[in-house]
Amino acid sequence: MQLYNTLTRQKETFVPLSEGHVGIYVCGPTVYSEPHIGNARGPVFFDVIRRWFEHEGYRVRYVSNITDVGHLTDDADEGEDKLAKRAKLEQLEPMEIAEKYFWRYFDAMTALGVRRPDIIPRASGHITEQLTMTQTLLERGLAYERGGNVYFDVSAWGGYGELSGRKADDQQEGTRVEVRSDKDDPRDFALWKRAEAGHIMRWPSPWGDGFPGWHLECSVMSTKYLGDTFDIHGGGLDLIFPHHECEIAQAKGAGKGFANYWLHWNFLTFGGEKMAKSKGALALSELIAQHGGVALRFHLLSAHYRSVSDFSDESLYASKQGLRRLQDTYTELTRRTDAQPDAEADAQAGTPRDDPFAPYRDRFAAAMNDDFNTPQAVAVLFDSSRNVNAALSKNPNAGFVAAAKAFFDETARDVLGIVGEQADGSAEDDTALLDGLIELVSEQRQGARLRRDFPTSDAIRDRLAELGVALEDTPEGVRWKRSTPKEKVTP
Ligand SMILES: [Zn+2]
Repeated sequence: MQLYNTLTRQKETFVPLSEGHVGIYVCGPTVYSEPHIGNARGPVFFDVIRRWFEHEGYRVRYVSNITDVGHLTDDADEGEDKLAKRAKLEQLEPMEIAEKYFWRYFDAMTALGVRRPDIIPRASGHITEQLTMTQTLLERGLAYERGGNVYFDVSAWGGYGELSGRKADDQQEGTRVEVRSDKDDPRDFALWKRAEAGHIMRWPSPWGDGFPGWHLECSVMSTKYLGDTFDIHGGGLDLIFPHHECEIAQAKGAGKGFANYWLHWNFLTFGGEKMAKSKGALALSELIAQHGGVALRFHLLSAHYRSVSDFSDESLYASKQGLRRLQDTYTELTRRTDAQPDAEADAQAGTPRDDPFAPYRDRFAAAMNDDFNTPQAVAVLFDSSRNVNAALSKNPNAGFVAAAKAFFDETARDVLGIVGEQADGSAEDDTALLDGLIELVSEQRQGARLRRDFPTSDAIRDRLAELGVALEDTPEGVRWKRSTPKEKVTP
């Protein structure tokens, strides 16, 4: 298995620390607002990595954290805590905010077919461990205290910059030097911050009441659950600097080996432009309601994780059509094997040499072993699906059907998670039904308009608006969107 290691900037053969085991840590979300589509790429990708390792016989321990304290609005260790800021806005406790958006996030992940990580540690639940690492770094001369703040001393740590390759000079250029800052060097970053009066999220420490710096939790929680040295650390490209650089400095500074392989997924763009969270238009819950979680999952997997993935209505519709083809093949195979359950058992007992799908299986594995090339893996599924459909029209024997079903179970269902129970049971089928129903209704409205029966066409549009459906005329016909339901107008 080859994977691209950001640390060495090349593809390397994966060698686990412990034979047959793999430990993975992925930086999770800060739970302070509605999850958006940009939050989905990493979890979907790592869900597939995890499934692929399991397919290859590994025992996986997958840890992904939840940030519920310490992530400030300003990268230079100033500004408000993102949760506290949101809590004021929504008039809730910060931990109510954490709880609310934690579930929004995991509900969306479930719809996307993302399995829960084995451990989901929260920053606020690991304050003691974070204090211990801060203490260790102070004892080792790699940190200093200034009036209740504790900072990591970058100049005292030789390894800083090993992941990002960023030199001290270009960092200083880009960093705003805070007038109020009590840091010795603007590159230094907070391990522990003093809580000012009125700051709700605070814990006692040897340096007074405060809260941990954002980077610290990941160094602490990854090594707590995966060991001082572990296999894979993942995150978005935007986390390489400063977040991951700081994670490495803290963990290695505290005497840990830390992660051997660093995997980073690229950005999502929207119609070619970099996605900005502030746009707000791409809330995951809305996209899932409109397109189904599995279609989004499939769309995300259609691009390699290290490439930019573009998200537009057009590309999403194309992905949905492709997915539908694979799902139709799978549904037909399921229907036929359900009718002949014995043949499937026979096929599973058969030797790989007899298996007409062995070449596809090899190609699928080659794609996945080449730095998790999911678009290639999907292409193998399309190839095999075309052959299966051609064969199905000629009434193949039960053995062939069972072998085809077994291949799709193993790849499309178990590894990519795009067909099968999860895919069938999600909003996907309802979405197709809804699409059809709304198409039917809008045809009726169109007919009424052509007859100049405007009271009827207006009544249909108003009723749909009350239900929260907005119709949109496009060159390809009428499309529909979810909108805020309109109050019913009583005459
Ligand atoms: Zn992290």
